[in-house]
Amino acid sequence: MGVAGLNEVADGVFELRLPIPFEDGLVNVFLFAGGDHVDLLDCGMNSEESLALIHSALEELGGKPLRKLVVTHIHPDHYGAAGVLAGPGAADLYLHRLEVPLVNPRYVELEHLVEEVRRYLLVNGVPGEEAEVLSNSQRALSQVVAPAEPAVQLDGAETLTLGRTELRVEWTPGHSPGHVCLYAEEGGLLFAGDHMLPDLSPNIGLHPQSTPDPLHEYLEGLRRMAALKPRLILPAHGRPFTDAAGRVEILTAHHRRRLDRVREIVAEGELTAWEVALKLWGERSNLYEKRLALQEGLAHLQALAVDGALEKLVSPVAVVWRSAPHG
Ligand SMILES: [Zn+2]
Ligand SMILES: [Zn+2]
Repeated sequence: MGVAGLNEVADGVFELRLPIPFEDGLVNVFLFAGGDHVDLLDCGMNSEESLALIHSALEELGGKPLRKLVVTHIHPDHYGAAGVLAGPGAADLYLHRLEVPLVNPRYVELEHLVEEVRRYLLVNGVPGEEAEVLSNSQRALSQVVAPAEPAVQLDGAETLTLGRTELRVEWTPGHSPGHVCLYAEEGGLLFAGDHMLPDLSPNIGLHPQSTPDPLHEYLEGLRRMAALKPRLILPAHGRPFTDAAGRVEILTAHHRRRLDRVREIVAEGELTAWEVALKLWGERSNLYEKRLALQEGLAHLQALAVDGALEKLVSPVAVVWRSAPHG
């Protein structure tokens, strides 16, 4: 017996690895067993294969019903199956309130957001034809997401009991506006979602659905999570790891180097974000990556402008960046 990909990581806490068609091909979700029910943190995509694994894991844990579904953020690999598992007569969905308004425009009524993104790409220097294609690249994702209404909207700092484990909600914006981590003080477990990953630097992008200065928020959130001094970090991608402070230092240094590089590039003259992204990463063939690269470049440009190192010049038709005279 034994469900493939299900392993106990702490007393009554089980990691389940679910298939996804991107990143390293797996997302980790967590089941918390206790009493007459099971609670779940993140739920994978809305695919038959992924849902079958969740159901066999529940079966293995005694066939008890799902009570709470907490979602770290609304990206398809974390939130996709929410509409299947949560809702009236099913589990209660817990979601940070800054994620809630992102769901409909992104996954249900896409037309407005697709048009907004197209205009956003154009003002940031993306050529017309490419902007058309890139703005439509979101459509495919809506097929693997079944949205659900949250039963509880989180602010951050709530104490939740999942299974037998008491956890504090840590609001960690940056990768997504309402991204949350969960921290169990007893045992020192940090469920880090996409905020802190062992092998990848999560995408931090400025775009129409992001917060206005995501990079600063992200770095501040990393410092807060390191200050908790967790014993074990349980990420949504990759294997559990220790030494939060060391990982935060590496991630922070990565962004510092990129900020320096963006400053050097902009010192060559007035540029659009698209021009900066091309100089940073060169031409990318994968459409989704191209858009992520532009948005990541924009997050760095914005952070530098907030710090006064760059000037950001805006009009209805173009956004350009140049060195600040005293930056
Ligand atoms: Zn994500
Ligand atoms: Zn993810």
